[in-house]
Amino acid sequence: MQLLLVSPVLFSFLYQLCFVEKIDRTYFKLRSNCDYCYRQLRFYEMIPIFSFLIQKGKTNCCRYRLNCCYFIGETLALFPGFYELQFPALLDIDYATFLLIYLFLLVFALYDFTTFTIPIHMLFIFSCCVCVIAHIHVISFLFVSSLLHLIYFFCKKSIGYGDILLFSVLSLAVPYTFFRYIFLLTFIIGGIFAIVYFLIIKNSKQRVPLIPFIFLAFNLTIIFQQTTHYGGMFI
Ligand SMILES: [Zn+2]
Repeated sequence: MQLLLVSPVLFSFLYQLCFVEKIDRTYFKLRSNCDYCYRQLRFYEMIPIFSFLIQKGKTNCCRYRLNCCYFIGETLALFPGFYELQFPALLDIDYATFLLIYLFLLVFALYDFTTFTIPIHMLFIFSCCVCVIAHIHVISFLFVSSLLHLIYFFCKKSIGYGDILLFSVLSLAVPYTFFRYIFLLTFIIGGIFAIVYFLIIKNSKQRVPLIPFIFLAFNLTIIFQQTTHYGGMFI
């Protein structure tokens, strides 16, 4: 249950790291500042979720609106904490790998939602963490990565290269049986959403971020695997 506190803090750290343009030794000595007037934040202004609620979504110093992605992300980051004790041992991935992928996908999803891009330095950090924490699947990675690059070569306008790289890293982190469900569900849910969205706004040139759907598909795959496991089957 300690993760109920640690997980939102980890999310906040990773999300602000997305916007850092230069990482060197001085970065780790920096204190947290207001995004607008750069006043150093007090301890109680850095408590995840509560500081946003107490300050009513505005900064204390200059009364600017706080970035609500922090609040959404920190709230969603609570879920792995609730899940910690009930995480089934027989799933295709262990809890550490689940937590790693969950937090990074959450960060990437919110960043993609606001900017339609993926921070490449964060993808590099994610890849390094996968190699250290997860059981890696090199053969599956080589196969999936080659196939995805081939798809990208023919459909450059339909999918971003950041999405291709993220899918490739995921194929390294999880077994192929698990990855194929994430991949399929991403495009099924994303496709249905895009059709409904384009019918409503009637502008097919509007872009739709893909990573929020990868995050959703990852969670649905966990739930789906858990359900089938307890139901007596195993996919
Ligand atoms: Zn301020």
